[in-house]
Amino acid sequence: MVLSLCLGVRRVRQMQRAFRNGKITVLCLLMTVIVLRGTIGAGKFGTPEQDFNEIRHHLSLRKRSEPHRVLVEAEEKKPVAVEEDEEDPPPDPNKPYSLGPKISDWDSQRSEWLARHPHFPNFIAPGKPRVLLVTGSSPKACENPVGDHYLLKSIKNKIDYCRLHGIEIFYNMALLDAEMAGFWAKLPLIRKLLLSHPEVEFLWWMDSDAMFTDMVFELPWDRYKDSNLVMHGWNEMVYDDKNWIGLNTGSFLLRNCQWSLDLLDVWAPMGPKGKIRIEAGKLLTRVLKDRPEFEADDQSAMVYLLATQREKWGDKVYLESAYYLHGYWGILVDHYEEYIEKYHPGLGDHRWPLVTHFVGCKPCGKFGDYSVERCLKQMDRAFNFGDNQILQIYGFTHKSLASRRVKRIRNETSNPLEVKDELGLLHPSFKAVKKQAAAS
Ligand code: UDP
Ligand code: MN
Repeated sequence: MVLSLCLGVRRVRQMQRAFRNGKITVLCLLMTVIVLRGTIGAGKFGTPEQDFNEIRHHLSLRKRSEPHRVLVEAEEKKPVAVEEDEEDPPPDPNKPYSLGPKISDWDSQRSEWLARHPHFPNFIAPGKPRVLLVTGSSPKACENPVGDHYLLKSIKNKIDYCRLHGIEIFYNMALLDAEMAGFWAKLPLIRKLLLSHPEVEFLWWMDSDAMFTDMVFELPWDRYKDSNLVMHGWNEMVYDDKNWIGLNTGSFLLRNCQWSLDLLDVWAPMGPKGKIRIEAGKLLTRVLKDRPEFEADDQSAMVYLLATQREKWGDKVYLESAYYLHGYWGILVDHYEEYIEKYHPGLGDHRWPLVTHFVGCKPCGKFGDYSVERCLKQMDRAFNFGDNQILQIYGFTHKSLASRRVKRIRNETSNPLEVKDELGLLHPSFKAVKKQAAAS
């Protein structure tokens, strides 16, 4: 009875609304007729007959153009490039490649600058260098449209880690040097950033397909106080075996100093695209262990450089394998649940990897070494694994590693600062203050 009464009231309201709408429609129609008649009568566009024909013509045109417009709109919804892509002119084959003008006194230029700018110290706390994390992707939209969504996830993940650890971020989408496209693009970029940011002590390059999976782990900066280049890798594999996967260039640290500029200069020559890169690729495949045949890449070139000039560079290179500065996704992603069950963030190693790197996945392009479905599924899991450590600070967690949905793990209270310590523990400035307080 109550229900039918409610329905009745609702229906009456609906009818009233419909009637009101109807009234407005009738009024509009009436006014249109008056205006039309007035316009035609006054002969505003010419003779009344001409005007009428014109209006009829216009109306029929609009009618005809409507389906066309729908079609055009549907076409427009396709993700097409907005900008025309013009081809770069071919490089001059007689000009030897160079990253830029030779600089040989960078250390003194930089230390003078630092002395003149005491407000921009290269160490932000004792033993804590100022670090700039650099990453980036192609200036073009992804060939596989969903790839752009994964680039977004990946930069969100890096922003989170960097915020918690007092690290600045630079995201590059410009190809600074047309000859150094693809994996070589990082070289001219790194050089430019070192020279433009004398306040930065370490530059941390990280690929766009690498994600932080340990949000708590802080790099052991003290361990690198005498090193200029830190890469994940193994001495024997690089220096003895010359294995092309003896190190990985997807995540590494480079100190801002003359040594690094010199290293970039000798690292770059295999990079220019075209004949140089193809020929260099053949050399690398011949000399390096297990390297497939393909054009020269920055990683093989680094192995080659270190293996052939160890005495020149070796003592300032730290090949780190005690934790995952880079971690190959294939051996990590199936163990996330196990890590959660047995361990905790902050370890950075095989118990809770700092970085999971999706080598060979190419979610942005069309051709990778692995199936796109497998890559995307595992990238989601890695993202959620890292993201849980962020969400947990705010009282949430993903429903599962496969789910973008979240659930509450802590109820809100009327005393939100009760959890402040938990929030603050992860914040770099809070940690520094606590350390100071403990020391005094
Ligand atoms: N990259 C870039 N601009 C480009 C192409 C690539 O900055 O035009 C960067 C991007 O961060 C990418 C990295 O270069 O992650 C290396 O390439 P990729 O990760 O595809 O190589 P892989 O790690 O699979 O060997
Ligand atoms: Mn990569």
